[in-house]
Amino acid sequence: GSTIGILGGGQLGRMLAMSAAQLGYRCHIFAPERESVAAEVSASFTCANWHDTEALTQFAQDCDVITYEFENVPVGPLAKLPQDMLAPAPRALEVAQDRAREKRFIQDAGGTPADFVAIDHDSELADAVERIGVPGILKTRRDGYDGKGQWSINERADAQGVRIPESGCVYEARMNFECEFSVILVRGRDGEVRFWDSTRNRHDDGILAHCELPAPAIVAAQVEQARDMARKVANALNYIGVLTLEFFATAGGPVFNEMAPRVHNSGHWTIEGAVTSQFENHIRAICGLPLGTTDSTSAKIMMDNLIGEGALDLARHLSRPGAHVHLYGKSEARAGRKMGHVTRVG
Ligand code: ATP
Ligand code: MG
Ligand code: MG
Repeated sequence: GSTIGILGGGQLGRMLAMSAAQLGYRCHIFAPERESVAAEVSASFTCANWHDTEALTQFAQDCDVITYEFENVPVGPLAKLPQDMLAPAPRALEVAQDRAREKRFIQDAGGTPADFVAIDHDSELADAVERIGVPGILKTRRDGYDGKGQWSINERADAQGVRIPESGCVYEARMNFECEFSVILVRGRDGEVRFWDSTRNRHDDGILAHCELPAPAIVAAQVEQARDMARKVANALNYIGVLTLEFFATAGGPVFNEMAPRVHNSGHWTIEGAVTSQFENHIRAICGLPLGTTDSTSAKIMMDNLIGEGALDLARHLSRPGAHVHLYGKSEARAGRKMGHVTRVG
């Protein structure tokens, strides 16, 4: 087949569609928002609600394979589609959409998340804070991204009067970490797994700001253990495509933060900094093509996100020597919104 359906219309879909185009594929985008920066570079756009199963079924009829650029696609409607079209299988979404489930899944695979307690009702929070201690972070189980849906609990009093949303929360210990890194892998239809190098990831206010290679020595010391964990997760899910696991490098070893069943912001540097990018390898994997080499093309690589207002000064970004500038084409810059990124190699 030669037509790829992508569920979700953001910049990850845009970069997937651009890689797909390079390999001669056409992409169809399905997303609920009118504005879609992925649709702008794709063959067609179905703008419909996730629960509009008629629209979804119609969409699927025009595709040979369907993938996701958004991890919170509701899985219910996907059950109505031919399951062999979906890559990765929706089970990966199911696990990653719920922080409590995700952490238990990781524990079952032998990994270590931060100590946590799942909370369903307001009345359970004080107890959770007592058990885990402070400082901690209260996170919604569902729908959080870029640090949204998170509250710091620095002392017990901070937990008073906090309302737990319907879909629940997890309360987890705030980790003392030396740095953050992610493991990004691609798994092919034959089960082959390849990893990209792990950058050091820096966040500002819960939003990824910067990735850098080489990562500090502690990452090199912990990345093998983190990769083993990620490989186990991918195999357990019979995963197809690119999968990302985020880690804290702590004195006690790698602590799992969360996973994303998709290409990831911390892998954007692979477009220019690796022999094969995360986007191209995701397309290769879901289309059953041979996977490309994931080696970095330089030992020294930096990626900076362009966030919020003032991020769109194209001439300024282009004036930096060796800068590879990516703008996502979003019509409106808002505080905390990812507008583009810049990669420098070497
Ligand atoms: P993303 O955009 O990566 O999906 P998210 O909203 O799902 O973000 P997390 O990854 O859970 O949020 O947290 C965002 C950042 O907040 C982390 O990368 C880390 O810097 C910090 N953070 C989250 N949980 C913890 C923790 N338990 N201890 C210390 N720092 C944390
Ligand atoms: Mg997340
Ligand atoms: Mg995260």
